[in-house]
Amino acid sequence: MLSRVATLSSRATGLRASATCRTYSAASNEDMCVAIKNKLGLKSTDEFIAQENKHGAHNYHPIPAVLERGEGPFMWDVEGKRYFDFLSAYSAVNQGHCHPRLVKAITEQASKLTLTSRAFHNDVMAAYTSYITDFFKYDKVLPMNSGVEAGETAVKLARKWAYEVKKVPANQAKIIFAKDNFWGRSIAACSSSSDPTCYTNFGPFTPGFVQVNYNDIDALEKEIADPNTAAFYIEPIQGEAGVVVPDADYHQRAFDLCKKHNVLFIADEIQTGLGRTGKMLCIEHSNVRPDVVVLGKALSGGMLPVSAVLTDNEVMDCIHPGEHGSTYGGNPLACRVAMEALQILKDEDLCGRAEKLGETFRTTIRDLNLPFVQLVRGKGLLNAVVVDPAHKVSAWDMCMRLKDAGILAKPTHDHIIRFAPPLVLTDAQMTEALGTICDVLKNSHE
Ligand SMILES: *Cc1c(COP(=O)(O)O)cnc(C)c1O
Repeated sequence: MLSRVATLSSRATGLRASATCRTYSAASNEDMCVAIKNKLGLKSTDEFIAQENKHGAHNYHPIPAVLERGEGPFMWDVEGKRYFDFLSAYSAVNQGHCHPRLVKAITEQASKLTLTSRAFHNDVMAAYTSYITDFFKYDKVLPMNSGVEAGETAVKLARKWAYEVKKVPANQAKIIFAKDNFWGRSIAACSSSSDPTCYTNFGPFTPGFVQVNYNDIDALEKEIADPNTAAFYIEPIQGEAGVVVPDADYHQRAFDLCKKHNVLFIADEIQTGLGRTGKMLCIEHSNVRPDVVVLGKALSGGMLPVSAVLTDNEVMDCIHPGEHGSTYGGNPLACRVAMEALQILKDEDLCGRAEKLGETFRTTIRDLNLPFVQLVRGKGLLNAVVVDPAHKVSAWDMCMRLKDAGILAKPTHDHIIRFAPPLVLTDAQMTEALGTICDVLKNSHE
């Protein structure tokens, strides 16, 4: 107890902090990161991972590759090994790693003005809000940073709209989610999750959220009849659940139910949007125009966290000054990068590439006819290979073999491998990567 008091008091006086700084200080002309890596003698993959595990929280279970450089569809590790990136940071780098136009936009703006907060206006917001609302054809945008903040914003907007426009009695608004949804890690997201890993020991939870089975119109029809329903919050394809694609008419029918009951249809396009599935928004496959669209991930092409909520005046004008916001939301750096990231998708026809390469991917894997591959599913370049759970080689082991062969992919759940490369892959690069993936899968037959 005494020593704990001593530590706390030395922390309070700053003694401990200054001692730490002396341990890791760099010479004036030296990069801090290089200095610390040299001091700790970090060279090999194992050394980096061991050191990270000492002082970093263990809240992820990564594939053991330590990456230091990226370009287009490729990443290189600290040992100089090159990989095809088949995760794209969960579809955040649709435009490819370190896209030169994004690097130019971020560095130019970074040396000019990065953050004013919304206490003042900045000269990029006007251009950005005009650009993105014209791009997606909505009246207004609310800029945030991470994806979960944008999801949270959509939930708050839906509740505000429910009370002020739909006239739901105070504190009775209900939002319907799908089982196996994923929209982040906040308390609200945990409160609407059906995944025990996400919610266990994080309660008490936020009320007002219910779940229905994904792709089950009858369940939705029953639930949505409650007149207090504010919104139906849905991923057009469930990414984290394992790239689950619903029936072709599901979204249309769900949307019709929403309209019948005066309920907002919120499309979480954070993972499925921005070209990933072969359309700018995945929901375009279903000919539905959501009331609210939630964007994130590839909105910055991997440069920095940028998210946004798009909707029309009837909903957005329910929010008044002081009722919602974020210090970094709408910062000039983010706005500048997001405009460039969206324009790249158009200029390079990345929707078209995703559509075409996705066909090639699914056909090639299906044609292998491997008995332990139960299913190859997806749209565009958001695909999953579902492995028989009883097969001797697990999805994790296959991902380890893929890594050794130069392909980075990550399992979701125990038996599903997601394949989602940057959309900038050339035909020749896809052929090369597919050759490797097919070899690894065939050799996992055993
Ligand atoms: C990743 C993701 C989020 C959360 O985004 P973060 O930036 O990690 O907070 C929300 N919804 C979907 C569908 C996602 O895939």
